[in-house]
Amino acid sequence: MLETQGISLILTKKCNASCRHCGFNSGPGSSETMTEEEAKYYIGSARNLVSLKMVSFTGGEPFLYYPLVYEAMSFARALGLTSEIVSNSFWAFQLCRSPW
Ligand code: SF4
Repeated sequence: MLETQGISLILTKKCNASCRHCGFNSGPGSSETMTEEEAKYYIGSARNLVSLKMVSFTGGEPFLYYPLVYEAMSFARALGLTSEIVSNSFWAFQLCRSPW
């Protein structure tokens, strides 16, 4: 029997990039974003699946909404789930350009 071990939440369709190959049609002009309450509702509902082990947060670019990512990940952890974030890592590029 096939068991669901993970779910993916598209936290936002907004992205700071506009890739032609984007499967979600995300980009700077998109604004659809989950609320914290919606994210917690979906995670909490999925947690009823005994086999669920992890949540993947994706978009769009989730790190454009850091407080939302933080709260959603904290909620998942409190429920005993591991999580990951799919990011285009724009923040790493900004850190590399930092003078320190
Ligand atoms: S979500 Fe990914 S593929 Fe889509 S526009 Fe952003 S960086 Fe590009």
